[in-house]
Amino acid sequence: MDVFQIQTPTDIDAAIAAGAAATTAQQGATIRFLAGGTTLVDLMKLNVERPSTLIDINRLPLDKIDAQPDGGLRIGATVRNSDLAHDARVQRDYPVLSQALLSGASAQLRNMATTGGNLLQRTRCVYFRDEHMACNKRKPGSGCAAIGGFNRNLAILGASEQCIATNPSDMNVALMALDATIHIRGAKRERSVPIADFFLLPGAAPDKETVLEPGELITQVTLPPLPQGAKSLYLKLRDRASYEFALASAAVVMIREGDTIRDVRFAMGGVGTRPWRVKDAEASLRGAKADKPAFQAAAERFLQGAKPQSGNGFKIELAKRCLVHSLQSAAQLA
Ligand code: SF4
Repeated sequence: MDVFQIQTPTDIDAAIAAGAAATTAQQGATIRFLAGGTTLVDLMKLNVERPSTLIDINRLPLDKIDAQPDGGLRIGATVRNSDLAHDARVQRDYPVLSQALLSGASAQLRNMATTGGNLLQRTRCVYFRDEHMACNKRKPGSGCAAIGGFNRNLAILGASEQCIATNPSDMNVALMALDATIHIRGAKRERSVPIADFFLLPGAAPDKETVLEPGELITQVTLPPLPQGAKSLYLKLRDRASYEFALASAAVVMIREGDTIRDVRFAMGGVGTRPWRVKDAEASLRGAKADKPAFQAAAERFLQGAKPQSGNGFKIELAKRCLVHSLQSAAQLA
């Protein structure tokens, strides 16, 4: 692990200013905001993350979950995953989010991991975590050992010739289906980004994973209210029952009118280089009968651009079955 500086601001303005100062004081300096540290500290120990400055944001007033006037919810960036998962409003109005959070990691990790940190969770590609292996995401231009290597858990959607890594988060999949908005502050501007625009495809620059610029801080996430009668759930398929990342997962929000689907949104995890959503597949179900043939047709549409790697062709069928099953389950609730 490299030597680094650490700062402990107590208000947001000071944290942003510290980030900007550290970035401009040293050319090439890397700053990271430290919250739960459940990904960042791991990666620092592995020499994958090598920040010159850490700005500890645990003292900032960003640890609250607040009801919004429109009936939605505002979630501070340092709200712990366990607190969010067990919040009564989340369990009542957004069960998909609670279930996604509780399906991730372990109880100890959820007690530390935060909302903002989970949004920025790095891939679990084994080559990314090994500084001796070729990895364009860790070291641009070095190659990708996963292409043709061990890629069982990697992406079938959204990959490029530079990188095929999956986004590992469960929470992000639920937030995608819930149409969350990410609120960001930097030294020069404050902005709100729909989650659909927050994650970048790897393309030719897999080291850049989100639209965040250096020194910008996620301050909160907002959830719009769900329409009356909406039901939601999260289904995660993985190699073992706990403390494991998804091979395929689905977050579904559905509203039914009798036998018909009035509205539906869904996103998948474990299969894409970012939490994956296909609006066409959702549109195909609006007004359709809530039955298995309609769900199978939607799953086909969702996966139609899928491209398997050498070791993960099984994911295409697995993802289809995961999606169909979760849509059927949501229809039974709705
Ligand atoms: Fe690195 Fe991405 Fe290739 Fe994994 S898939 S080795 S993260 S470039």
